[in-house]
Amino acid sequence: MIIHSFLPRSTVNGPGVRSVLWLQGCERSCPGCFNPEALPVRGGREVSVAAVLEWLPAEGIEGVTFSGGEPFLQAAPLALLGREIRARGLSVLVYTGYLLEEIKESEKDCWIDLLSTTDVLIDGPYLKDIPPNHRWAGSGNQRVHFLGDGIDREGSGIAEEPSSQGGEVEFSIDSEGLVTVTGFPEGWT
Ligand code: SF4
Repeated sequence: MIIHSFLPRSTVNGPGVRSVLWLQGCERSCPGCFNPEALPVRGGREVSVAAVLEWLPAEGIEGVTFSGGEPFLQAAPLALLGREIRARGLSVLVYTGYLLEEIKESEKDCWIDLLSTTDVLIDGPYLKDIPPNHRWAGSGNQRVHFLGDGIDREGSGIAEEPSSQGGEVEFSIDSEGLVTVTGFPEGWT
């Protein structure tokens, strides 16, 4: 798969502490997209499913978030990865610009496969003029779907009620001093 970046731990990209994998490539151009560097399909770097699994912290995370870019453009390897993640008792959260209905009605096996390994899907394109009403969403049109039943939701914290507010931002600094900014700042554009 072609990825844009990876963050071992984040608390603003879904419930609990999560690793975040940003995929490279998106065919949309939502005005105000949070991650424009992840849009070109020719950028990024190629990594294997096994490599991503090795990056996951051995403990202290509740799941992994796939963001982008558009994860469903790389649905086949992500479905494999998602299955391995869930086999470790972790949850999978996926951000997509597609609607859940579009994915379900598609005739793409890999899309259905990825959906079947997804515990939480946050769907819809980013629309900058609609303020977010959920702390895990970038704009108010995006919906949070709880899909998975293969994990202990209560135990993982995935069933916790989200706040009605958007606007959480997180800064991370790695061992080489690289700063990553992630989350959904209010008034981004
Ligand atoms: S769907 Fe997401 S990644 Fe793609 S352009 Fe829109 S906001 Fe950016």
